[in-house]
Amino acid sequence: MKKYENILFDLDMTLLDFNTCEYNALKKTFFSYGVEIDGEKHKTYAVINDGLWKRLERGEIVKKDLGPMRFKMFLDYLDISEDPSVIDKQYKDNLSLEAVLMDNVKETCEKLSKDYNLYVITNGTDYIQKSRMKLSGLNPFFKGMITSDEAGFPKPQKEFFDFFFNKTKADKSSCLIVGDSLTSDILGGVNYGIDTCLISDNKPSGEIQPDYYVKSIDFLINLLQQ
Ligand SMILES: [Mg+2]
Repeated sequence: MKKYENILFDLDMTLLDFNTCEYNALKKTFFSYGVEIDGEKHKTYAVINDGLWKRLERGEIVKKDLGPMRFKMFLDYLDISEDPSVIDKQYKDNLSLEAVLMDNVKETCEKLSKDYNLYVITNGTDYIQKSRMKLSGLNPFFKGMITSDEAGFPKPQKEFFDFFFNKTKADKSSCLIVGDSLTSDILGGVNYGIDTCLISDNKPSGEIQPDYYVKSIDFLINLLQQ
């Protein structure tokens, strides 16, 4: 296989188990309002939140509005009258303390860090993602992290990658993007001319196609050694 020098990892659902982090943070946030968040409520929140992140990726909404918008919708669903901006801040603070790893991530990153420069590229709030990376114990294996907050644009937009390459001076042809999202990680790489690897249970069948796909992160080691 082509020799890469830099691996650009997405953070959520690639390195960190965002579903569990989100669920824990929601439970903590709403506990103080006497509301118990169960799997059903979490699912409703996640659908609202994912929909808004997709709109952000497409440039239809701006980042500062996303947080209050999702909690406005979720509070309406729960039939609670609280200030969505206040809840959003509390939720973000709780989320910043959640760093549950996906399976086999630490061992894989440790191994790969011996042969490759590892970076995190994430659509997320700067202080939250920095705090979670620190708590995850992964920082020693990574050369750096670029957040969409810092770049001013989210993946898959071209400006996000312009920012990454300006900052790291990495050579585009030596990079491989690894992530779980076709619409941000893989599409971003395809449009920018960077090789991509999707982590997914199923081989993608749609229009957006990665160069490689693996079922879980540990398969990357074999893939890169081929
Ligand atoms: Mg992701």
